[in-house]
Amino acid sequence: MSEPWGRRSHDAVRGHDRPVLIVGGGPAGLATALALARLEIASVVVERSAYDDRRLGEHLTPVGLLQLRALDPGFAVSGVHGRSAGTTAYWGSETAGHTDYFLHPGQHGLNLSRPHFDADLARAAESVGAKILRSASLRSAVRSQVGWQAQMDRDGGTDDISAAFIVDATGRPATFSRQQGAEIQAHDRQVAVATFWDCADEAGANTRSLIETVEDGWWYCAPIGPTRRMCMFVTDDDLLPRGPERDLRGWWLDQLARTVHMCCLLQGVAPASEFITRSARSQCLDIVVGSGWLATGDAAMAFDPLASQGIVKALDHGQRAAVAIAAHLNGDDATLATYALDLKREYSAFQNTRTRYYGMERRWPRSIFWSRRDAGIASHSARAP
Ligand SMILES: Cc1cc2nc3c(=O)[nH]c(=O)nc-3n(C[C@H](O)[C@H](O)[C@H](O)COP(=O)(O)OP(=O)(O)OC[C@H]3O[C@@H](n4cnc5c(N)ncnc54)[C@H](O)[C@@H]3O)c2cc1C
Repeated sequence: MSEPWGRRSHDAVRGHDRPVLIVGGGPAGLATALALARLEIASVVVERSAYDDRRLGEHLTPVGLLQLRALDPGFAVSGVHGRSAGTTAYWGSETAGHTDYFLHPGQHGLNLSRPHFDADLARAAESVGAKILRSASLRSAVRSQVGWQAQMDRDGGTDDISAAFIVDATGRPATFSRQQGAEIQAHDRQVAVATFWDCADEAGANTRSLIETVEDGWWYCAPIGPTRRMCMFVTDDDLLPRGPERDLRGWWLDQLARTVHMCCLLQGVAPASEFITRSARSQCLDIVVGSGWLATGDAAMAFDPLASQGIVKALDHGQRAAVAIAAHLNGDDATLATYALDLKREYSAFQNTRTRYYGMERRWPRSIFWSRRDAGIASHSARAP
């Protein structure tokens, strides 16, 4: 097949009749597609899943809700997602710290079912003209004088596309950027071990997420709809049980038993059987912009999930990336340079905030996990995630 979608004309970008190719259809890639559509620039999103996989990242702050409305005023939040009144945290002391959303202009956050949310965003992008190729992956991309010649694997065959620009929105693996020579700079070795619990009690009435620290890391639990919760333990990868016979579930439940508040929340609910381990480290790329490409969202920089800023950042990056790409296609490269500089500053600000937050927890001076944070969290350079 050869580029059935690639021959449109776009007044805003005269002379560029090729679409922007976005690799990865998560919040960052789809926000980029939505924002490009507003600038009358066509895009093709290559998404390797059919939005039927397990996805983590449930909490959308009121800022994110406002961003969504700005990106797509007609965006409908479906009933599978629930409202969030805020967060309660036992961090640094046994006194609860509360974040209330009621007085925020957004008035509430959302507890998301992530696969549904990402699929909703994909439909929103399609409705403004973006082409979404689900269950597809980028096989190769060769730089040409006018952009890129790319080949995709899809439906057991290959598609060719001529693209004006490529956006790497592949999330933490930053696959495309690394193929272009960028390197991931990792700043800790955190992982999250997560599971979903069904609770047939009045849990739905409490829409707050809960955070609690323990000696080996910290816990996070969020309601998803009225009868389901996502619960995860964040620690360092070398503190996980090891070996082929490791009992991850037993270890996880043992860690849960060390909590004061989290275990009460989950008391009497059906123990989960499936556990998902995901990288939760803070990382950034050394280069986020190259010749004819840029990285956005987690591909450019991934925050510690404590920040609960990943989706907000992805939506924000998508909008900024679209503006920079439009300027670039119109012959102005300064905006791409500004995009890169802004991201660098953003990551540096995030690191300062993270150091401040981890510095607030001083109750386990001999803990490996917390003493590493005290020491300024080691920096690891890594080629592959
Ligand atoms: C444990 C954990 C909990 C989190 N909790 C929260 C939270 O509560 N709130 C919050 O705001 N953020 C949270 N985050 C962060 C948030 O999930 C991410 O920041 C956000 O999803 C980033 O969006 P993205 O589009 O950049 O990347 P992703 O969401 O990772 O999307 C990348 C997309 O690209 C696709 N893809 C990957 N490689 C390819 C390829 N080669 N070809 C085609 N497609 C590809 C993937 O299928 C995926 O759809 C959490 C993160 C972790 C690890």
